[in-house]
Order: sequence, then structure tokens, then C-alpha cells
Amino acid sequence: MLFENTIVGPIHSRRLGQSLGVNLLPLRHKHCSYDCVYCECGWNSESEHAAMQFAQPDEIAQLLEQRLQQLSAEGAHIDSFTFAGNGEPTMYPHFAEVAAEVVRLRNRYYPEAVTTLLTNATQLVRPEIFAAVQQLDNPVLKLDAGTERMCHLINRGNELGCTWQQLIDNLTRFGSKGIIQTLLFEGQHAGERISNIEEIEFAAYVKLVKNIRPRYVMLYSLDRATPEKALRKLSVEKLQHYADKLQSEGIETKVYG
Ligand code: SF4
Repeated sequence: MLFENTIVGPIHSRRLGQSLGVNLLPLRHKHCSYDCVYCECGWNSESEHAAMQFAQPDEIAQLLEQRLQQLSAEGAHIDSFTFAGNGEPTMYPHFAEVAAEVVRLRNRYYPEAVTTLLTNATQLVRPEIFAAVQQLDNPVLKLDAGTERMCHLINRGNELGCTWQQLIDNLTRFGSKGIIQTLLFEGQHAGERISNIEEIEFAAYVKLVKNIRPRYVMLYSLDRATPEKALRKLSVEKLQHYADKLQSEGIETKVYG
């Protein structure tokens, strides 16, 4: 499912409450440094021939302000201003500038709300992105695997991203400022078995998270249609089982079923 608007919602999110989405990426096209087997936006290849046209930061700020004026006049509630949408938000060419504008408008219209970024963390390798993401209240950073091999099978990174070691180094530098998000599942893709819950894999993942020392971990499973169909969703009970393993290592963990 691709977003057809820049400002989306507010919609109720299982993780964020009433969430007003800010999609910085081209409408109806996906742009990402990963191509996850479970991506609800579909495969990258479905968008590759589309010309990438990005809105300017002032256009986005104007659309957001108009929507906020409308929502505050209606007395609508917002818990989170959430950067999410058709791909990886930090790949928007003017991310730092627009992030500062969103913080400014949040302060003006909904000072009680938080700013949230759902990111695959590959662009933290760029100093200006690392600094901009640190200014947000809730940087939610993806880590789906304990090993480079499983990350490659699940997330299918491309040349727009970073190496496995850079990813782990940047997540560790972020430390307790960041929240780690992990989608647990099992399945198959292109003849390969994929699982981030096998004993060795999950043990490697726990070891990494212990080193990163995030604020907390969000565990969830598949929720919407996936481009690879041979994937299996985990029950809430199963998610809780893995959350308990993290908790027993002193890592605060929340489950979203
Ligand atoms: S990082 Fe997010 S947007 Fe990018 S491919 Fe994975 S799920 Fe899709």
C-alpha cells in the first residue's frame, strides 16, 4: 500500500496512538535503501522506473500547517507527528530542514505531542542525518536480525544504504536516545528459509541489543499484506515469549500484537 498524500491522518496506530503521518517521499512511489520481504509498500522494483520528484520543504510545511489549523479548529487530538510513508523518510533530500519545520509546527499547534521517526537507520551514516534524528523525541530504529546474513535475507539492502558494521556502530552510538523496532517472523523467499527467531539468530540479536542499550525495544509481527507471500506471522503469545527473553537480559521490551 502506497501513500497518496503528504500528510496522512491522524490515524490510530497500535504503537503510537493518534498519529499524524508526514510522508516526505514521492506520492505513489517507494524510495528505500532496503527492500524488505515484508514491506507493506511492495517491492522497490515496482517503482524503479518512476521519476522521483520530491516536494520542497516549504511545500510540506505549508501542507502540514494547513492541516494542523483544520485539526486544532476541530479539537482533534494528536499523540505523535510521525515521519513514515513510501519508503525511508531520511532519504528525503532535505530531511534535516523539514524535520526542524515539523518540530516548530508541533511546538506551535500541539506542544504535548511527540515527534516520531520510523527509520531503517541506514542513513545515520551521514552526519547531518545523525544530528537531525537526534533532535526528534522518538527515533524508532529498525533492527530485524542478529547477523549480517539474516539482515541481508530480510531487509535486502541496496547501494543507497550502509554496511552491516556501519549500521551496528550507528545504532550503538545512538544508544539510549533510540528505540529499537524489530519485526519477528518466519518464512521463505527465493528458495531460502528466513527466520529471525531461530535460537542462534535470536541469541545473536539479543547480544547486539545488549550492546546497543536502547531506550526500549518494540517487538511486533506482520500486520498487512506483504510482497513475499510465504511469510508467517507470530502470535502475541509468541512475541511475548521473545520479549521475556529480552527482559531477562535487562532490556525493556514492549509487544504490539
Ligand atoms: S525499510 Fe521500511 S520502507 Fe524500506 S523496504 Fe523495509 S519496510 Fe519497506
